[in-house]
Amino acid sequence: MAAATSLPAVTPRAKLPSSLCSGTDPAMTDATASNLPFLDADEILAGITRWVEIETPSHDGAAVNTLVDMVERDLRRLGARVDRIPGRDGFGDVLEAEAPWGDPDEKGILVLGHLDTVHPIGALATTHRVRREGDTVFGPGIYDMKAGSFMGYYALQHIIRSGRTTPLPIRFLYIPEEEVGSPTSRARIEAAARKAKYALVLEPARDGNKCVTGRKGVGRFEMRITGRAAHAGMRHQDGRSAIREAAHQILAIEAMTDYATGVTTNVGLISGGSGVNVVPAQCHLDIDLRVPTPELADSVTARILGLTAQDPDCVVEVSGGMNRPPYGKSAEIAHLFAQARALAAEIGYDLQDVPLTGGGSDGNFTAALGVPTLDGLGADGRGAHALDEQIRYSSLVPNTRLIVRLLETLR
Ligand SMILES: [Zn+2]
Repeated sequence: MAAATSLPAVTPRAKLPSSLCSGTDPAMTDATASNLPFLDADEILAGITRWVEIETPSHDGAAVNTLVDMVERDLRRLGARVDRIPGRDGFGDVLEAEAPWGDPDEKGILVLGHLDTVHPIGALATTHRVRREGDTVFGPGIYDMKAGSFMGYYALQHIIRSGRTTPLPIRFLYIPEEEVGSPTSRARIEAAARKAKYALVLEPARDGNKCVTGRKGVGRFEMRITGRAAHAGMRHQDGRSAIREAAHQILAIEAMTDYATGVTTNVGLISGGSGVNVVPAQCHLDIDLRVPTPELADSVTARILGLTAQDPDCVVEVSGGMNRPPYGKSAEIAHLFAQARALAAEIGYDLQDVPLTGGGSDGNFTAALGVPTLDGLGADGRGAHALDEQIRYSSLVPNTRLIVRLLETLR
């Protein structure tokens, strides 16, 4: 393993000229592969590092807003039209920004990123120290998805620096709570999607730099089981164990998993009981569901919501439903992917796609509204949500260039 090396200074090496546009260099007006202006990997990494070094757990709205402040300043410096929507329910603010050209009423390109991470405050100083080892750069949320979020910003900056515009208007949305299902930003995402001809989602690339063209839907359910408490020694026969009932329910829920159809269920959290010598009166389960199609979403949701107690003296109550709708690789998405693949070939790599991933994203919302959506356009790497979360430095330039080229060529 290569020795850890220190990161480059976080101040971008090249500064935007005060006019933002340096004047049109004739060599830069022809956007063909052989004639693409320079992208600076160290400058991209320095920018990513700046965003990673502000820790942003989803539930800490004030912390997320510290980064929103920075991103807002960065976008305003580019001359973007910025709208900041105050957060609700303790979450951070939503940032919407339009490139400084184009008719805002024309359907354009929606670029989606999130600024929150799953990592708690302090990860930066302990488990997830930002460091580079050869081609690998570690950091909390660097892969999912501060690298991609910054690369989108950098792509816009690059187009502006090059003195260009794009055929379609561009709208960015930076989301403060994607990692918990975008409960407060979903309506804004869907409103922006209705004004979009395409959606580009900057979630991480995966499985060797592949993009994403389909995602399973995500459902979340809670089950509350009520039994009857009793002394576990003296009056055991009077008790009705909510935990015993939960055991039956858990097996029934887990039995809905069917790898052949792509349905998975997971009882991920359980709590219950009040003491080791008490027959438990309460038990609580949290359930995660993943489904590949709307039909399966409906049928499995009905099965989960329809679960009833096996013990007639226990009560089972289930609530919840689909949080993110599934989307498949439609003909429109396949066409969009083919365009991206051709652009990647010009850049010099063979872009493959993952046509169905189990992880949800805000791309589920845009695709479900029929907007051709290309996801996983961020940095390559691995370890999302994990202790070894990392990106590949060598993916920064080609993947950012692909974002630039999509913005420049989609029409
Ligand atoms: Zn993400």
